[in-house]
Parts: sequence; C-alpha cells; structure tokens
Amino acid sequence: MSFDFLSIANAQISSLQPYQTGKPIEELQRELGLERIVKLASNENPCGISEKVQQALQDHLHDLARYPDGAAFELKQVLAQKLQVDAAQITLGNGSNEVLNLIGLCFLNPETEVIFSQHSFVVYPLMAKFLGAKAVEVPAKNWGYDLDGILAAITSKTRVIFIANPNNPTGTWLGHKALQNFLQQVPEQVLVVIDEAYTEYIPADVDYADGLALQKQFANVIVTRSLSKVYALAGLRVGYAISTAAVANILNRVREPFNVNSLAQIAAIAALQDDEYLQKTIQVNAAGRVQLETGLTELGFEFIPSQGNFVTFDTRQNAAELYQKLLAKGVIVRPISPYGMPQHLRVSIGLPEENAAFLQALKEVTA
Ligand SMILES: *Cc1c(COP(=O)(O)O)cnc(C)c1O
Repeated sequence: MSFDFLSIANAQISSLQPYQTGKPIEELQRELGLERIVKLASNENPCGISEKVQQALQDHLHDLARYPDGAAFELKQVLAQKLQVDAAQITLGNGSNEVLNLIGLCFLNPETEVIFSQHSFVVYPLMAKFLGAKAVEVPAKNWGYDLDGILAAITSKTRVIFIANPNNPTGTWLGHKALQNFLQQVPEQVLVVIDEAYTEYIPADVDYADGLALQKQFANVIVTRSLSKVYALAGLRVGYAISTAAVANILNRVREPFNVNSLAQIAAIAALQDDEYLQKTIQVNAAGRVQLETGLTELGFEFIPSQGNFVTFDTRQNAAELYQKLLAKGVIVRPISPYGMPQHLRVSIGLPEENAAFLQALKEVTA
C-alpha cells in the first residue's frame, strides 16, 4: 500500500469533487463508435471561431517562444476603450472562472461567509468549500434569484455575494431597477460579483441590469465577463473583471504573472473587434432559441425562459436516464443534478441542424 496523500492534504480537499465538464465529443465517439455527435452541453459557440481570429492566431504563432505580455497592455487598451473604463479597472483571467477564483482567494477564508443562490453556477460553492468559507445558499424563487432572501442572509461575516446574470443553468435574469435597488441595500464592505458570462446575447428591449453602469455607481461591485461564449474562445481561456482600480489592484496581487497566454491575448483582441461575427452569432442564438423552445413545446416539455445561449427544460422524469438515452443517439446535453435540478436537462443552443438533431433524438427517446 502506498502512502495515502489525501490524509495530509488540506482538510477541505477531502470534501471536494472535481468539476464535471460536459462530455467531450471524442469520448462519446470512442465509447459508441458513432461518427456524428452533436454536443450541446457546454454553452459553446456553435459558429466556431471567427475568420479574423483564426488569421490573427496564424500571424502570431512565431511569437510563442517568448513569454506573454504579463500586463496584457494591448488587450486591456481594447477592453478599456470598448467598455469605457480605465485599464486599471481590469483584471484578466484564464477564463472568467479564474477571475472568480481570484476574488475568492483574496477575500474568502474559514472565518468568512459567501452568499449565492440555489441553482446557480457550481463554481461558487466549489470555491467556498476549497477556501473553507461558509457557503450560504439562498433558496431560488421561480428558478431565479430571491434578492430579498439574499439581503436577509447578509451577516457581519459576509464578504462576497455572487450573482450570475443571466444565471447558469437556469437562464433567468435580473432587471436593472431590481438589481440597483438590491445594491443600495448591500453594506458597502460586501463585494457583489455580477457574473455576466452571457451579457452580449441579451437584446436591448429586455429589462436587464447594466452591470457596468452599476459598477460605476457602487464601488463594491465587480463585473465579470467571458470570451468563451459569444466570442467563441472557450478553448483559449480568457475572461476579465471590471471593478474599481483599488479592487483590481488587490486581485492582481494573487494573479499568476502569465495567466493569459499570448495566443489568448491575440485572439481576444481580434474577437473583441470583430463586430460582424458578434452580430452573426447573436442572431444564430436568437433563432436557435426559438427553434428549441418551439420544438420543446411541441413535444410537451416545459422550459425555463432563458436569456443565455442555452435552454433548460423539465424532463418530468429522472433526467439522468434521459441523458443516457440521448447519448446513445449521439446527442450530448448537460445533466444538472449537481445544480440541484435532477429533473432538468440543459441544452446549449446550436446551429439549426444541431438543434433539429437534438429535438429529433428527444422525440425518439421519449416516444
Ligand atoms: C461559462 C460561465 C463562466 C465561465 O466562463 P469561462 O470564461 O470560460 O471561465 C462563468 N460564469 C458563468 C455563469 C458561466 O456560465
């Protein structure tokens, strides 16, 4: 018997489980020997990376022998201009997931509390466990956030509140007045992270909180965003936070010097400037959402209205079984029992033919 290193690992590690990602296409191909797999499991952009990003990457491959620009000067300039913020307000991460971790590393420890909603992003409870902070989960209301419940949960030990807007995996969202009114009641020393991984998808006519405007108004707000979703760079890992410069300065103290690699920086700069691609992908998403919602309704399934690039629906059964049956048809969706939703499945919005393949498979396995 070799030595059990878990016995000497930091105490909180024993209660952790590795994050469960969407099943990779290649894995299912190996298992089933199927040629055509449709993966609608990880809220990836079905349009693939833009041609401009591809070109920029090719043009910079020769730079790879050098370390990246650790300060990511050019990328921060592009972001600062686009978002009308100061470059000193930006913290870059290896995906916004890393930025969320940096916030935890800086502000959470076993003496503190962190608040998030039931059925929200699993990274929040995972991080709380890892850092030994008390995780306070506030029950959801109609699958969305109960902001009054969150306010009532604040104590003198609360350091951070996580608000995903829209929320993953439910797709629910918060309006501007609602979030503003909430922030007015949060004590100034409690950080509120508005996780806006899907913000670019939301049409102008939807009442949706403008996180950057709220950040200008409230110094305790940190807005986090991702280039993995609408900008289609999930594989390269780029995300960022917008906060006061003072908070950004704290986050940057624990950030690894080269956390965003050279190609990721190059790709992010090109992607942020490719408005044509952005508009195309937003349209594909909007049309795909209608297609999925219509199809689900026709098959008699209820879904939760979503502003993300995914739709979550009630399978009215143990979703794990339905998930397996869909896998056997070559369709990968996302079981969300780790989010406390064992009856639901989350399906990412794909290209028209992918959405159709999912709906067809769903029809067959539930016939
Ligand atoms: C996808 C997602 C993220 C993480 O995105 P990355 O930038 O790829 O790390 C963060 N928050 C929410 C709510 C998400 O759904």
